[in-house]
Amino acid sequence: MATRLTADQLYPGSNPGLGFHKEKNMDIRVQKTYEGLFTLEDIREIFRQSLPSGLDPGEEQALQSRISTLKQIVSDIEHAAGTPAITKIAGTLDIRCREEDFINIHPIQAAGRLTPEARKALISYGDGYSTCDTCRKPFRLDKISKPPIAEFHEELAKFLNMDQARVVPGARRGFQAVNATLVEKGDSVIVSALAHYTEFLAVEGAGGVVKEVPLSKGNIVTGDATAEKIEEVKREIGRLPKLVMIDHFDYQFANEHEVAAVAKVAHQYDIPFLYNGAYTVGVQPVDGKKIGADFVIGSGHKSMASVAPSGVLATTDEWAPKVLRTTQMLGDVTKRKFGIKEVEMLGCTLMGGTLLSMMASFPAVKERTLRWEEEVEKSNFFMERLLQIEGSRILSEYPRKHTLTKVDTTGSFDTVAKTHKRRGFYFSDELSSRGIAGEFAGATRTWKLNTYGLTWNQVRYLADAFIEIAEKYQLNMKK
Ligand SMILES: *Cc1c(COP(=O)(O)O)cnc(C)c1O
Repeated sequence: MATRLTADQLYPGSNPGLGFHKEKNMDIRVQKTYEGLFTLEDIREIFRQSLPSGLDPGEEQALQSRISTLKQIVSDIEHAAGTPAITKIAGTLDIRCREEDFINIHPIQAAGRLTPEARKALISYGDGYSTCDTCRKPFRLDKISKPPIAEFHEELAKFLNMDQARVVPGARRGFQAVNATLVEKGDSVIVSALAHYTEFLAVEGAGGVVKEVPLSKGNIVTGDATAEKIEEVKREIGRLPKLVMIDHFDYQFANEHEVAAVAKVAHQYDIPFLYNGAYTVGVQPVDGKKIGADFVIGSGHKSMASVAPSGVLATTDEWAPKVLRTTQMLGDVTKRKFGIKEVEMLGCTLMGGTLLSMMASFPAVKERTLRWEEEVEKSNFFMERLLQIEGSRILSEYPRKHTLTKVDTTGSFDTVAKTHKRRGFYFSDELSSRGIAGEFAGATRTWKLNTYGLTWNQVRYLADAFIEIAEKYQLNMKK
């Protein structure tokens, strides 16, 4: 069996409250895998520093020396041996091995974990403007054909059943582009009472004001409530809102909201509808036309297994000329004009590893959306187990329709925190010692977790761990 080191040996001084706990035994092979990757990068650097004519004797020697190091590392991986030799990158950065050493149930990290393909694309295309090797006239990111960025844009639009798509640095930049286009000072924008802060900021940045649709029974945003809100705004301000912007699944409960009904209502008033798919695009099928969306926005780093900041803005042929309008500006001295650069995109958006990670993950992302139902099943499997621990509640709609869930363990795990010397941190300690990370450290009342992407084995392990902790502290179990 593998020689196992404690977290303290592996990560001296790491803070248990930040995810590591000294009881957890780390696999030295993970550490050694990173050291191997780093050594390969050092080898790569020798090639980068050399002349095209080949390595000189000094470089050959450096290469051989690195290879010896690498062989030792490979042997350490093979035999689960050795001690950590590299603990910091650039003297300051810890190695992040949360995804290797733990089951990570962090609410916003689950579906943004990179695929192996994305990680390979990242090491290959990490250099600054790496997308621009063969950029030709008319010089715009989404027109580049090598790598196939233009084709990717077409596929993205098709994937969402929209007419056009652009990559953007995060869903928030998509909200910003749409709001900056449609909203003028004093205009109102309809959002949900569960809207994300970035939606507020996008409206504010454009000089508008948000008007929130109150929640209906079960914390759901309905078409009817949206209609009422539009009527209310019309009465109070005397003008209709400029945009309706609603999340399909919100970030607080991940409840499903009536987006198709909301779109229909918005269109009855001739108001465009922005579908916020931060928690859907990339994990479940999204059909923009069927929903009636004028804009579909997704988050690459939240739900498309991509490097941050990344995201997608898709729209219809009707709205593209507005939100994707090209520059008209003329330099007064030079008379320069910048052709087909799109104003809201500031010309080009994701010019390197971010975009290539999105593209590399895309085939896997498309495929995984077809397996969404199974992800939901796993989520419900875990929740059923959690509910067996008396006093536990689910604050999100239940049965779950999503893998992100808000739970309330005030009546179960929090009862232990009241008398435990570590307070709420006892629970994080128990989880991390079992190799589970991503819960909000110290929180034992209401908190969120996301089971997306866990294997059945991992979900069962997760559920067993919760039951085991409950039993350890003699919490009551339902039959
Ligand atoms: C995460 C999230 C966002 C922000 O996404 P970014 O890609 O980080 O800008 C917006 N809306 C909702 C509902 C979210 O959950």
